[in-house]
Amino acid sequence: MGADVARAIRGLPILSGSASQAKHGEMITVGGSSHTHATTPVEGPDSFARRAQDAVIASGRKLSKEEQAKRDKNGLDLWDEIEARSRANEYPKGTDVFLQKFHGLFYVAPAQDSYMCRLRIPGGQIRSWQARGLAELADRSAAGHVDVTTRANLQIREIPANQAMEILYGLRELEIVSLGSGSDNIRNCTASCLSGIDATELIETLPLAKRMHHCILNHREMYGLPRKFNIAFDGGGKISALDDTNDIGFHAVRIHQDNATSAFPAGVYFQLTLGGITGHKDFARYTGVLLRPDECIEVAAAIVRVFVRTGDRTDRKKARLKYVLDELGFDQFIGHVESQLGRELGRMDADFLDVTGGEDRTAHVGFHPQRQEGLHYLGVVLPVGRITSSQLRTLAEIADRYGCGELRLTVWQNVILPGIQESNIPAVQEAILAAGLNYQANAFQAGLIACTGSAGCKFAASDTKRNAMEIASLLESRFELDQPINIHLTGCHHSCAQHYIGDIGLLACKVENGDDMVDGYHVHLGGGWGTNQAIARLIFESIAMNEIPDLLSAIIGGYLQRREPGESFTSFAARHTVEQLRQISLTPTS
Ligand code: SF4
Repeated sequence: MGADVARAIRGLPILSGSASQAKHGEMITVGGSSHTHATTPVEGPDSFARRAQDAVIASGRKLSKEEQAKRDKNGLDLWDEIEARSRANEYPKGTDVFLQKFHGLFYVAPAQDSYMCRLRIPGGQIRSWQARGLAELADRSAAGHVDVTTRANLQIREIPANQAMEILYGLRELEIVSLGSGSDNIRNCTASCLSGIDATELIETLPLAKRMHHCILNHREMYGLPRKFNIAFDGGGKISALDDTNDIGFHAVRIHQDNATSAFPAGVYFQLTLGGITGHKDFARYTGVLLRPDECIEVAAAIVRVFVRTGDRTDRKKARLKYVLDELGFDQFIGHVESQLGRELGRMDADFLDVTGGEDRTAHVGFHPQRQEGLHYLGVVLPVGRITSSQLRTLAEIADRYGCGELRLTVWQNVILPGIQESNIPAVQEAILAAGLNYQANAFQAGLIACTGSAGCKFAASDTKRNAMEIASLLESRFELDQPINIHLTGCHHSCAQHYIGDIGLLACKVENGDDMVDGYHVHLGGGWGTNQAIARLIFESIAMNEIPDLLSAIIGGYLQRREPGESFTSFAARHTVEQLRQISLTPTS
């Protein structure tokens, strides 16, 4: 527009539209969705991704379908199109389905003829007034419930086409954004769910997750990734943020005086770990780079910029950060990050770091004392992460009346209510049970994680959420556990429920049953994270769902009968071979 004004003053013809001809015959996008189809910014944040695509084309290779779609039309500039579609009561078609996920709107046909909207809740923290607002939005424009995800996030489901804008406007009024929650973007930034209230943590991580969130929102090049990307901050406390399953994991550690150096005085730092992607059977590994807390955001942003340049844009299966690291190795990759930053990063051998390993697997459910004297937090079980709008209102009410007006969503698909006075515990217990919710630590439901499944996701081979509930209620009727056993059900290889880190991991498949194909699962045992890091091993393949509860009963019965005193399921599985675990599962227990 400025160029056009200058031309008008000089008596020259005004160029058509809002795009101006630039040098070398390229077009500059000035903004607005109507000019995004065939224009390329010469400079500016969008050029990060554009140059990476140019390099692929110049090398004679072909961009993947999704990369071509992003090249043709920037997903960030779809606001007007989404509004027009919403007004016309229509869903997107073709690659627009993929591009609209930049705004958090997932058209989930054929599983459901509706939208799912995924939000961004950094660190999983929402205020009671936001929870009430979300309940109202879910009632008014969706199915009247929300789902907590394994990124401590929320999804609103069954949104009709003509309600899409109501959802987007409604979220903004609640000071919640959904930008970049889907497609090839950095997903919800997670933190330790007890940040600030855990006496055992080394450092609060919620502020870091929030800062990272705002860094992403305010840097357009952060939306130019070749594939999705996860970032987590773990404060070293008693509930893991599962940072080792993220592309970038920041894990708090301490350097004691004995190991202090001039570069690293005694204190708390973050280990930089990279390349976690458990669906591809890899955990994030320590790079050797140790960071002060105030360096983390800048370094994460530099890593993302390097990934934008170096990630594979031809093959979606090889487009995650892990594959860049496999190709370059950590040293070369960190060298690129240092060039991006314009400085060297400090390194410290892991042997000199005190990594806290005090994780308590019962700490995310039930009442527990906080760091603040006299106060407790309550972990509430949300079976497979689903919560009705009326339950959400109840939790908001409890948070206001007995807590500090705050709810914390967790990567374990449950919710924590902090700030409860000891004297109010009985009243809170009563209110939770009256809402049809639970706070028992050892129920199978407490360790139940399920992805959306075939009821709402086109990739799923089985109805994971429904099957999870069937399995948990049957196992609860047969066993009383003295320590948690996590069961993770994932609908497809995308591994949203991280079946490879579950004590029991079920990966959905279709199984032949006469002329029919029925829901079934591949059964994996012995996964873990953090200090018990392990990829669950495949024990049985293609088991029909109707046989799963009995098979799992045999496995759990065998574990309870043969374990050493106090032995966890993870340790029990780890000291047996696949064949031994098969035999244990097939041997009747008394
Ligand atoms: Fe859908 Fe697969 Fe993710 Fe489940 S794991 S929600 S089926 S993409």
